[in-house]
Amino acid sequence: MVKLWPKIDHQSLQVRLIAGVATVSTMGLGSVVTWMSWQIQHLLVETHKQNLEIIANRFPRDVEIYSDMVSLETGIQKAVNNLTNYNTLLWVKNSVGTITAKSQTEMMISKENTLTFLSDLNSQPKLQKIQGDYWLLCAVPLVVKKNFYGQLYIAHNITSEQTMFLHLTRSLSLSSLLAIGVMLLAITWYVRKSLKPLHRISEITQSISVDKLKDAQIQLENAPSEIKQLVQTYEQMLSRLSQSWEQQQQLVSNVSHELRTPLTIVSGYLQSLLRRGDNLTSSQREAIEVATSEANRTIQLLQDLLDLERADSGRMHFYADLVNLNNLLIEVVEMTKKFSDRICLLELPEQIITITVNEHRLKQSLLNLIDNAIKYSEPNTPITLRLEHSKEQVTIQVCDQGIGIPLQQQVRIFERFYRVDEARTRTTGGSGLGLSIVKTFIEGMGGTVSVYSRLNKGSIFSIIFPL
Ligand code: ADP
Repeated sequence: MVKLWPKIDHQSLQVRLIAGVATVSTMGLGSVVTWMSWQIQHLLVETHKQNLEIIANRFPRDVEIYSDMVSLETGIQKAVNNLTNYNTLLWVKNSVGTITAKSQTEMMISKENTLTFLSDLNSQPKLQKIQGDYWLLCAVPLVVKKNFYGQLYIAHNITSEQTMFLHLTRSLSLSSLLAIGVMLLAITWYVRKSLKPLHRISEITQSISVDKLKDAQIQLENAPSEIKQLVQTYEQMLSRLSQSWEQQQQLVSNVSHELRTPLTIVSGYLQSLLRRGDNLTSSQREAIEVATSEANRTIQLLQDLLDLERADSGRMHFYADLVNLNNLLIEVVEMTKKFSDRICLLELPEQIITITVNEHRLKQSLLNLIDNAIKYSEPNTPITLRLEHSKEQVTIQVCDQGIGIPLQQQVRIFERFYRVDEARTRTTGGSGLGLSIVKTFIEGMGGTVSVYSRLNKGSIFSIIFPL
């Protein structure tokens, strides 16, 4: 199914701010509309209640005046006629519940059956909806000259006002909904705009590599002062980070220098001991051989660390010459034969390919890759060195049929000291620096290095130089 909406990140500040502001404004506006509607309704009912109370107070007095001139029943009817108008109806029931007087209007005729049968009325006016009309109804005891006569019923039709009120409430609710919608859009736009500097900081920070820490600057235009302050703190932290990175580099460089010289001397003595020590027992010879190889491995590690430190600090120079790659690869295969008896196949194109690179660094990179290929494959499988070229690029590949590298680890093997699996690499020696040296050298010469590998099938490391 096609996803129409992007996934909403509920943890994001943007979503939280928009949701928060939207909830508060909806609740605020909703409460105002509800309160206003309640107030208008209250005002409407209260105004008409007062009219009903005036009629209820005046009616007995009118009856008393009329009854001085005519009979009581006629007096009551006259008072009813007098106080009836186009939207007010009156009727009087005597003590046994018979209607003795009522308004003489058309409305009374049409509504009599529904209004006069209502039984739960009392002296407090009550709003009721009867057959689509809104009525304010009340019933008060009728006392004439201190004698209880019966009940006076007053019905006041407020349909037009109530309809107007309902219409108003509906319009108010609709316009509030519309206002909330517009507000939501405006808030979304504003929150996005306000958070843009944060996204920018994140983008800039991602692009700051370790060698650019020193000069890293996060420049933001028109950012709010809080964000500017954050950027300032961030830059101060980057500067401290840069300082400690430099100190660490310096330490690595000093320690490597200090250790490399005595170790080289130790290795030299051990080698001469091996050459001249005819009277050594086999176990003594074995011990000196192990010591020599460990000393050489440590010297190589120190050399790698020095190279990386030099590359990081920009002090490594890649003096480039025009190099015949066909010859270089033949030479590398010859060198491999000196330290390994592995079959090394060479696939060269017919024509000679020359590029401008630092010959020494390229050779060192290839030897590193071949060393890995030998380390991580069975002794009876060959290593292939391949040279290819097209119009745009030259590719050198080192292929083995070894254990391969799991896909998720392939991006990390070029990191310093990263080793795929300590258990499987323990026996092979190495320090996890070989591939980072290759990457540093090749990229320093304007090339790229990548890997294609399948578990238990083998790996292909490709060095590519654009032409
Ligand atoms: P190491 O000194 O451990 O060989 P590298 O930087 O040369 O360090 O290699 C990093 C890791 O990549 C190694 O530990 C190894 O697991 C893996 N690796 C490198 N080359 C190969 C290869 N040709 N076949 C399988 N795994 C390899």
